[in-house]
Amino acid sequence: MPDLLARTLEEHTPDSEGFCRECRDATGVSATWPCVTREVAERARSLNGTGAGSDTDTVAARRRARDLNGAGTGRHTSA
Ligand SMILES: [Zn+2]
Repeated sequence: MPDLLARTLEEHTPDSEGFCRECRDATGVSATWPCVTREVAERARSLNGTGAGSDTDTVAARRRARDLNGAGTGRHTSA
């Protein structure tokens, strides 16, 4: 949900004293920023943003792992 993510990142910003503008705890005190909500939103954004790039890395890593496995199982040690 990109709109919700963008809005969360817009709203959960620090005020002049370093507290989140949106988050309040049970006693009405502002949460220190970056708040949990902000951290989750930023993590979600970075996952979205690097999805294509990390996919390449994953393929490369998987191929490398397969090569290593192949080298290991290539030796027929059944005899
Ligand atoms: Zn917040």
